[in-house]
Amino acid sequence: MPLRNLLKIESMILRKVKSKVETLLLKGMPVSDTIRSGLEPRVKSLNEDGIVPQLAAIIIGDDPASQVYVRNKSRAFDKLDCKSHTYQLEADSNKQDVLALIDTLNHDEEVHGILIQLPLPGHLDSKTILHAVSPEKDVDGFHPENLGLLLEGNPIFIPCTPHGILEILKYYEICVSGRHAVIVGRSNIVGKPMFALLAQKFEMGNATVTICHTGTKDLTAHTKQADIIIAAAGSPNMITGDMIKAGVDIIDVGINRVNDDSEKGYKLIGDVNTESVMGIANSVTPVPGGVGPMTITMLLVNTVMSAEKNRELIACQS
Ligand code: NAD
Repeated sequence: MPLRNLLKIESMILRKVKSKVETLLLKGMPVSDTIRSGLEPRVKSLNEDGIVPQLAAIIIGDDPASQVYVRNKSRAFDKLDCKSHTYQLEADSNKQDVLALIDTLNHDEEVHGILIQLPLPGHLDSKTILHAVSPEKDVDGFHPENLGLLLEGNPIFIPCTPHGILEILKYYEICVSGRHAVIVGRSNIVGKPMFALLAQKFEMGNATVTICHTGTKDLTAHTKQADIIIAAAGSPNMITGDMIKAGVDIIDVGINRVNDDSEKGYKLIGDVNTESVMGIANSVTPVPGGVGPMTITMLLVNTVMSAEKNRELIACQS
């Protein structure tokens, strides 16, 4: 083979090797640990004033994933000297009973946050139940009043998962302003609040945001344009290496149980095929261990903040 051709092949190989980037894994634990450490003195100060930040979690039915989630929340609250009380209701509980419990908790001065574990059994309308939670105790940020304030740019309680994602971006110094963020998923708890946050003119926002969903005709055409991808569709491995451009930062929100032959019988995987984006993306959150640890941490943040607001209110009244 002529030398010229050999040199051409060598330079092609070199270009290919050079174009492989080392994709950074954006782990959630260091971010979560930093935020929880910052909460410790705030909780101590509340405790010294005789206040223990308290979350009331209502769980209806016996969905195993929800049980695990609520148990993990309780542990995290205990560890930080906060309280978490779980109200376990029967799967066939009627609307009146659930609303009566929420009303009692809304008026309980020792409760600073109320959480309704989703999904609810089919006979209960989630809107009716979520709207019954007092906006002042809506630490999940799902009440329309809190979602409205978020859209307006003056949020009080920011929904925990999108808030946790912002904290990951901030911790790893991933620039958002002026970049193109593509969100896959338009749910009220992830996609829509994520849109409101990233589009907002503030430190961790100011992005141009596209929101994709099941009605999107050519998803790849959008993801290929993205500088940041937020994958929140609940569809295992749906984002693959051939759907992204080099240097993109990817946040994988998806938590999907897929059966395997392990002792548990399943494993958790994300919406992103992590292996296929390695070497192309600038960064990606792992599943598990990425966004997951952040959601409970941001719930702690919101509950502590609610307790502090309550302390201020009491101080003003006395
Ligand atoms: P959801 O089912 O309410 O919404 C999914 C959205 O994705 C829908 O708006 C739908 O239009 C869109 N979608 C689904 N398939 C699509 C496709 N093929 N192409 C384009 N869009 C598609 O789900 P959710 O509650 O927003 O949760 C999404 C995922 O995130 C789930 O896997 C869930 O378990 C996970 N999640 C994780 C955390 C966490 O703490 N890490 C928190 C909340 C949700």
